[in-house]
Amino acid sequence: MGGTFNPIHYGHLVAAEVARDAFELERVIFVPAGQPPHKGVIADAQHRYLMAFLATAANPWFELSRMEMDRPGPSFTSETLAHFHAQEPEALWYFITGADAVMDMPRWHAAEDIFQHAEVIAASRPGYAVRIEQVTAALPAAAGRVHHLEVPALAISSSAIRERLARGWSVRYLLPDAVMQYIRKNRLYGAGP
Ligand code: ATP
Ligand code: MG
Repeated sequence: MGGTFNPIHYGHLVAAEVARDAFELERVIFVPAGQPPHKGVIADAQHRYLMAFLATAANPWFELSRMEMDRPGPSFTSETLAHFHAQEPEALWYFITGADAVMDMPRWHAAEDIFQHAEVIAASRPGYAVRIEQVTAALPAAAGRVHHLEVPALAISSSAIRERLARGWSVRYLLPDAVMQYIRKNRLYGAGP
């Protein structure tokens, strides 16, 4: 599961956990983006990595990868999946996305290549519709390789969490306590202690 995780929240975690059951995944690897190609204000990759660590460490099936953070230049999902696929070519790899991200995929760098290395799980997300036909119309390689997954609806986004923190509002119950405490300790996103 890729993302900026700026910061990681319960929307990410529930999508990963539900995908694990529904697709009988052996493990879910969270891959924080190093240098997202089109994103604005982001916390340092090391902070995002450590927050993802705090959020995932207790789940025996969750892992965390520094692959995109340690690779210089922009983070392209196609390269990341090529790498995982090469490490375990006999495994069936899935890329877990939310509804917004999957609809955007036709515009991603080397989007067709993604489907040579993995299939895609498109998790439902409040406020975004998944139209798989639209993705496959733009990306023929995606045909039959994008799977819809209904997850418990959590209208949580990292951007809304950052906005709340900047206003001095509470973010409790939107993300794990340890992540909230890490944000306050390090005064990320304009948050106070
Ligand atoms: P931002 O608001 O900064 O874009 P975000 O909440 O969308 O942050 P990302 O790191 O951009 O989080 O998302 C990583 C992946 O998780 C994407 O595929 C996204 O669609 C998915 N995702 C994020 N939040 C949810 C949610 N609440 N429900 C389902 N999927 C989600
Ligand atoms: Mg997003």
